[in-house]
Amino acid sequence: MIYFDNGATTFPKPKGVAVAVNNVLQKYGANPGRSGHNLSLKSAEIMYECRKNLADFFKVSSPENVIFTSNCTSALNTVIKGVLKPGDHAVISSLEHNAVVRPLEELKNNGVKYTVAEYVPYDDEATINNFRNAMNERTRLVVCTHASNVFGFKLPVERIGALCRLHGVLFCVDAAQTAGVTELPLDDTSIDYLCMSGHKGLYGPMGTGALIINSDVLPKSLIQGGTGSMSYQKSQPEVLPDMYESGTPNLPGIAGLNEGIKFINRCGIKNIERHEMRLAQMLYDNLNAMNNIELYTQRPNSKTSVPVISFNIKDEDSEDVAAELNRFGIAVRAGLHCAPLAHESFGTIDRGTVRAVMSAFNNDSNVRMFVYTLNRMISSKKRNQKG
Ligand code: PLP
Repeated sequence: MIYFDNGATTFPKPKGVAVAVNNVLQKYGANPGRSGHNLSLKSAEIMYECRKNLADFFKVSSPENVIFTSNCTSALNTVIKGVLKPGDHAVISSLEHNAVVRPLEELKNNGVKYTVAEYVPYDDEATINNFRNAMNERTRLVVCTHASNVFGFKLPVERIGALCRLHGVLFCVDAAQTAGVTELPLDDTSIDYLCMSGHKGLYGPMGTGALIINSDVLPKSLIQGGTGSMSYQKSQPEVLPDMYESGTPNLPGIAGLNEGIKFINRCGIKNIERHEMRLAQMLYDNLNAMNNIELYTQRPNSKTSVPVISFNIKDEDSEDVAAELNRFGIAVRAGLHCAPLAHESFGTIDRGTVRAVMSAFNNDSNVRMFVYTLNRMISSKKRNQKG
């Protein structure tokens, strides 16, 4: 199988990830932070190591500000529902995933309003203006994806962050598609909350994610319960990271995520980005040279995009194309990719798009086979139409 569905979750994972998960299950997997015996201490040590590696990776000084979550969705829910109060207003981009839109729709029932700022492709100035115009005196939070999971566009998060600082507004970035794919150091930005999946570009197992709090404003904790700390206290501890991490953590996942980060550090994130971008460009150039293919972006490059290619075959439903590619052993995702706003903006809401996303484990021959298969599919359809 050729796997280009890395935008949903990366596959395969580095070998070290599987070994680390297995070690937890077979060798030392006790409950971390709950007991004083050696196995529990070893578990707590691995959990801390992963927290520290994530903090270093994103250049935050305090590992305690790294909160483990079960995915990017739960991190985003923590920020959106933990920060916004009745009467507050939020601004989001027109490329947001339902992980942002749906919590905000839910909060409408509690008197929270939000405005969508239109993303303008390849025009940061116009995009920033739209964010500026969408803000009002009640705006408390801006939530913005770092890169579109449908079209790969990178948003100017540094500039949006600066705008938020100027207006005293909190800024949350959804790094689901960029964490581990392109650099985003938090020591040099105005990002207050960074939400990410652990199972995509960071190469951890599914069921992992993180929220990095880079602000003194702590979102209200949505879950209360045992943390293994301050157990004499009936109320939820208000210290990081315990405040947000009640209940037994996903240690197998976290140990795997730790190895995923080490893998990226060994390869070098810039090398991974270069490799994936080269493959994305190769795919784009080939698709662009084909007659019946509709593309929605300019040729991707690291300044404007992440290695995500969305396309359609003329007059065909994206789900049908993906199903046929699957029959030829190629895994892609089709449809709306949980981001209807993005499709509304680009006129693809009716049939969605076919999406191919690269990972460090893809290579040139995967792309060549993909293009060859697509060409065959198109020409056999033409033959059938003639016949
Ligand atoms: N945000 C974006 C931009 C995404 O692409 C995704 C998943 O594809 C999510 C949020 C949700 O991530 P998760 O599946 O880790 O909850």
